Amino acid sequence: MKYHEILNQGSKILKLNKIKSYSLDSEILLSSLLNVDRSQLIINHNKIVKNNEKKIFFFLINRRKKNEPISYITGYKEFWNNNFKVDKNVLIPRPDTETIVEQVLSYLRPQSTKKILDIGTGSGCIIISILKERKKCKGVGIDISKNAIKLAKYNAKIQHIKNRINFFHSDIDNFLTDKYDLIISNPPYIKQHEINGLEKDIKNYEPRVALNGGIDGYSKIRLTIKKSSALIKKNGKLFLEIGSNQVMETLKILKFNGFFVNKIVKDLANKNRCVVSTKI
Ligand code: GLN
Repeated sequence: MKYHEILNQGSKILKLNKIKSYSLDSEILLSSLLNVDRSQLIINHNKIVKNNEKKIFFFLINRRKKNEPISYITGYKEFWNNNFKVDKNVLIPRPDTETIVEQVLSYLRPQSTKKILDIGTGSGCIIISILKERKKCKGVGIDISKNAIKLAKYNAKIQHIKNRINFFHSDIDNFLTDKYDLIISNPPYIKQHEINGLEKDIKNYEPRVALNGGIDGYSKIRLTIKKSSALIKKNGKLFLEIGSNQVMETLKILKFNGFFVNKIVKDLANKNRCVVSTKI
């Protein structure tokens, strides 16, 4: 079977199973399996796929056809120009979350030596991306999931920043060491009863613990802000990702906990996504 034939078959199967990005996904799976760029598949469209590769390809297509996210199948997701290892224990990094990274970097000058805490670090994508750009900053990432911490450590290693970051498996309630110049967090902020209405890719595969913001969607936002207030230095900055409709209530919670709100930043889709505040 030639490259273009197998790609067509793969995308046909995905299309039949209502996967919207069927042809792109077929290409991504084949290129990841053969370890070549997608452009190489097109250039070499008459090249023959080996039999064992063919078997594996259809196995991967089979996973995707059941709505498993492409990043869990390939094991990687690009975020802020870096490739992060991901698996079912962590949320897949979203382009919207790059808004936090952008905001933090615009605040930290290149020679900054600040100490940064990431609450609910998941794959570690936010803090690792920041530390890669600010070579003198140090970081700590915590997460309630032991498996997420394992993965974040691995990501710090492949991104070569292992010596400037520590990861701890800890509940925010039990983490009270040190004071930080800067705290970042993308906490779970979806209302519990809304999770089942999300796309199958998300609701059937991504970790509930990373999505579930409790009955009103604010349980983790509240906790993160309250704890940040104790863990942050005076005049320290908190960068928080929230849902686009959560601004008003989040501002209330921030003010109640002694934060001054600096700005609300929109994401790529022009939706409110990130709140920057200062502990006063
Ligand atoms: N900090 C991680 C991310 O932004 C995980 C967030 C989460 O699990 N809620 O991808």
